[in-house]
Amino acid sequence: MMNAERRKSVMNNIKNLCRLPTPCYVIDEEKLIRNLEILRGVEQRTEAKILLAQKAFSCYHLYSMIGEYVSGTACSGLFEARLGYEEMGKENHVFSAAYRENEIDEIISYCGHIIFNSFSQLERYRDRVLKAGKKIGLRINPEFSTQEGHEIYDPCSPKSRLGITNANFLRDKLEGVTGLHFHTLCEQNSDDLERTLEAVEEKFGDVLEKMEWINLGGGHHITRADYDIPRLERCIRHMQEKYGLEVFLEPGEAFALNAGYLVTEVLDIISNDIPIAILDTSAACHMPDVLEMPYRPPLYDSGETGEKQFTYRLGSQTCLAGDVIGEYSFDNELKIGDRLVFGDMAIYSMVKNNTFNGMPLPEIMLLDKSGRLITLRKFGYEDFKNRL
Ligand SMILES: *Cc1c(COP(=O)(O)O)cnc(C)c1O
Repeated sequence: MMNAERRKSVMNNIKNLCRLPTPCYVIDEEKLIRNLEILRGVEQRTEAKILLAQKAFSCYHLYSMIGEYVSGTACSGLFEARLGYEEMGKENHVFSAAYRENEIDEIISYCGHIIFNSFSQLERYRDRVLKAGKKIGLRINPEFSTQEGHEIYDPCSPKSRLGITNANFLRDKLEGVTGLHFHTLCEQNSDDLERTLEAVEEKFGDVLEKMEWINLGGGHHITRADYDIPRLERCIRHMQEKYGLEVFLEPGEAFALNAGYLVTEVLDIISNDIPIAILDTSAACHMPDVLEMPYRPPLYDSGETGEKQFTYRLGSQTCLAGDVIGEYSFDNELKIGDRLVFGDMAIYSMVKNNTFNGMPLPEIMLLDKSGRLITLRKFGYEDFKNRL
C-alpha cells in the first residue's frame, strides 16, 4: 500500500514533471531501484543469475547502478553485446536467430555465453567459440504456448523461427554445447513458467541431464505486484536440484516496469464527434507498443472513457490517421498548454522510438533518487537527418 506521504511525494514529482520541456521521457530512479531490489532478492535466495535483457531498456547511463544489483546483461546481436560489455561489463549472454560471419568474432569477444538458434549455426561457429574459451548454448522451442491473443510475441506460435523444436533437435550433434535456452513468455506470471518447464522437461529432459546451465529467457513479470515470486524460486530450485544446472533468467520489462514517464503538451483541441486533443508526442514514434501490442498506456489523473466528466481522444501531430493513443477522461476540461504525464514509459519506448514524419525524439531525463531532474540526452534536427 502506498502511504499518504509517499503518495504526496509521487504527486509532487508529477507536478514537477509538468514543468519539463516536452516531449520528454523521465526515468524514475527510485522506482527502478525498487524493482532492482526485488530482482536482487531472487538472486540472493536462489543463486540464479539475473541478466538485463537490453531489448526492453538500454539506458546505459544507469548500467553501472543496475550492475550493483544483478549479474549482467543479455543481448541479441553485436551492438547490444558491445553496449552491455562496455557499459556494464559483467556476465553477458547473446542470442541471435543467426550471426553474421563478419560480426561473430567481435561478439564472441564481448560475451561469455553464445546461444545458437540452429545446428547449422552451431556447426559453422562452434570452433571459434570454443577456441575463445566461451560457452555454447542452444535455444530450444518447447512448442508450448501459454500466451493468448498476441502471436507477434509468442515464439511458440506455428512456424516460429525462434528455437529448435524437438523433432529438429540432433542429440548426436551436441559436441561443445553446455547449456539450453528458451524464451516463450511475455508479461507472464510464474504459473506459466512452471507449466512451460514441465513441457521443457518432458521434451528435453534427457538433454538437460547432460547440460551445465539453463537460461529461462525473459517475459517474467517479476516486479509486478501480483507476481508469485515463491513459485518462481521453486521452479529455479527444481532445475538446480534435479539436473544440477546453473540457472539464468533474462527479463527485460521487469527491470524498469512502471519506472518511467512520458511528458507531453496539449497543442490544440479540436472536435469531431468527440473532443480531440492533439499532443506533441506520437504513439507511432514515441510509444510504438501502444499500436503494436496494442495497449492503452496509463495516464496520471485520468480515467476511462466516460469515467470522469470530460472525455477526449488523445492523438498525435503526425499525418498517420491511426496515430492515436486512446480515449481518456478528466475532471477538468483540457486546455492548450496543459501537460499530460503517461506512466510506464521506460520500457520498449526509448529503445524503439523513431523520427517518422520528422517527429523529434523526446529528451531523456532522470528523476534521481534525491528528487533532482537531470538531463541525460537531448536530440535535434541532426538526429533526424543523420539517419537518412
Ligand atoms: C525479449 C526477450 C527478452 C526479454 O523479454 P521481456 O518480455 O522484456 O522480459 C529476453 N530474452 C529474449 C531472448 C528475448 O527475445
